[in-house]
Amino acid sequence: MSNESKITKAEKEKYIIQFKNVTQRYPNGTKALKNVNLNIEKGEFVFIVGASGAGKSTLVKLLMREEKICGGELRVNGFDLKRMSSFRVPILRRTVGVVFQDYRLLPKLTAYENIAFAMHMIGEPKSEIDKRVKAFLRLVNLDDKANSFPHELSGGEQQRVALARAVINKPAIILADEPTGNIDPMMSVEMMELLCKFNKWGTTVVVVTHDKNLVDYYSKRVVTINNGKITSDKQGGMFDED
Ligand code: ADP
Repeated sequence: MSNESKITKAEKEKYIIQFKNVTQRYPNGTKALKNVNLNIEKGEFVFIVGASGAGKSTLVKLLMREEKICGGELRVNGFDLKRMSSFRVPILRRTVGVVFQDYRLLPKLTAYENIAFAMHMIGEPKSEIDKRVKAFLRLVNLDDKANSFPHELSGGEQQRVALARAVINKPAIILADEPTGNIDPMMSVEMMELLCKFNKWGTTVVVVTHDKNLVDYYSKRVVTINNGKITSDKQGGMFDED
């Protein structure tokens, strides 16, 4: 490997997420990412946009270590994702709160239990769980839905349960995959306002989306992927449809 593709110590200190010359190929030969370089600093808010098939999901899967990186270097919150062993993956995932497009709530658990579950998993004491889950339910405006099951909630409400669950263990990074994909515009605004609130409190937020209105309205950093390559990266950018 050339020195050029190595991540330096200064870069490690500066960036919470760093893709360096990342190339990702699926077993059938499809190159989903081609020489991607992307640096995200702690506390940034970044939109990642691009057409269907551009490589956005692949990027998310790499960040979560759902796929193992093929070529290049990737560091997330101090973890070297190329070299880390599988048993450390849960530790990485604890530092990245993910909001999935399809929510992925546990259907047989209530809103309260879905959120509490994430804290049980890391062995938090019951009293702390109850206190924090109630506070987060209030934060996402769902205190009156604590005992509702996912099928009793609207799309926007399920999305907010998913957000509360993603942030309950105070991750350094929130990764939201199409957070407004299945919800109406009013709910999209509420979801975005919550993401902005967590960002103001210091959490790095990465939102993958194809929602042009959202991206143009919020005027944040916009990284565009096209056919596996980053084709633009602008502060206060607009959704580039070309
Ligand atoms: P996006 O999320 O932007 O729609 P993806 O990351 O899902 O894009 O896909 C990028 C490219 O990789 C596409 O050409 C897609 O067909 C291909 N791809 C995605 N997942 C797989 C897979 N598991 N096996 C083979 N090719 C894949």
